[in-house]
Amino acid sequence: MSEPSNKKKKCPQCGKKNIPEDKFCTNCGFELKEYSPGDFVIMEHLKGSLYGSIACLTIFIAFMILVTVAVSSQYGIQAIIPLIIIWPIVIGFMFWASRYLRGLSKIRKFIITGEYIEIIVPHKPYFRVNWSEFDAIEVQKRDHQTWAVLPGKVIIGPRFIYFKLIFKGSNFTESYEFESGKDFKRRSRKEILIALEEFAQKMNKDYNGPTKK
Ligand SMILES: [Zn+2]
Repeated sequence: MSEPSNKKKKCPQCGKKNIPEDKFCTNCGFELKEYSPGDFVIMEHLKGSLYGSIACLTIFIAFMILVTVAVSSQYGIQAIIPLIIIWPIVIGFMFWASRYLRGLSKIRKFIITGEYIEIIVPHKPYFRVNWSEFDAIEVQKRDHQTWAVLPGKVIIGPRFIYFKLIFKGSNFTESYEFESGKDFKRRSRKEILIALEEFAQKMNKDYNGPTKK
């Protein structure tokens, strides 16, 4: 693309246009790094899935309140026992969900340059390895299917998919596990694995992972 080089830098976090000399966003403090054309850069947030999840949770809570009101007006005092059992579970679930959804609106980054691989995901430790430190990359996929047993039936919950990137050298092993769809978008996860494989080939490193899909 042939855009003028004095173009203002748009902050990926808050959208403010900063002058090219700014190293950090003057509005939110986000680090505005320059990358070379050959670098692989993913910078994204998951605001969309955050809003979707909040909408689902709101509907769920509204439904539970309606059920509570309906059951209490129908059965009166006898309704207290099931409600005493159900509501702590609902509140526990909400607590878990709020922790799980934490940070979805913040920027995460996956950067691959000819020098290093850098991964920044909100609320996870900063990760960086240099290509000179390792000889091989291994990618392991892990599935976690959630489910619950209720009297008479098994309920299948959401499925979580994790990718563990293992960087191995003769005296070196570092690994980073991220969750597809939460730490990075599913689409980005595919791009990340393709880029890792391509860079590994370019950098003369072994790559062992799920085949391209
Ligand atoms: Zn900003």
